[in-house]
Amino acid sequence: MRIDGGCHCGFITIEGEADPDKTAICHCTDCQTGTGSAFRVSVPVSGAAFRMTGEPTTYLKTTAESGNPRVQAFCPRCGSPIYSTTPGDGVQQSYMVRVGILRQRDQFVPRRQNWFRSAQAWVTGLGAVHRNEKQA
Ligand SMILES: [Zn+2]
Ligand SMILES: [Zn+2]
Repeated sequence: MRIDGGCHCGFITIEGEADPDKTAICHCTDCQTGTGSAFRVSVPVSGAAFRMTGEPTTYLKTTAESGNPRVQAFCPRCGSPIYSTTPGDGVQQSYMVRVGILRQRDQFVPRRQNWFRSAQAWVTGLGAVHRNEKQA
């Protein structure tokens, strides 16, 4: 399906095509640190269909647990994570776009959870945590 969205401050916008069935959670410790949260939710977008305005800042990180070098891209103004991809010049084959920046985020329901061995223990019990419809 068509996707579009952008970072929190609006400097970066993206468009592309993504299959909601490919949505995945990553519980690895690098994703916990890189998001400042408990896990990351991403979906692959082919490079051929990926369009972006604004220039993200990137850094290269060899993830501790998988050993794969990944380019991590985020907004230089607001810090929103945008995607990760393979190192190299030009358009890459695939971009793991962060689902939270998509306008269609509610349609990207995770189908798998990777690196669950490092998941925070409370993630499976969120349904039992007290809920406020707005900030308490
Ligand atoms: Zn931004
Ligand atoms: Zn991860």
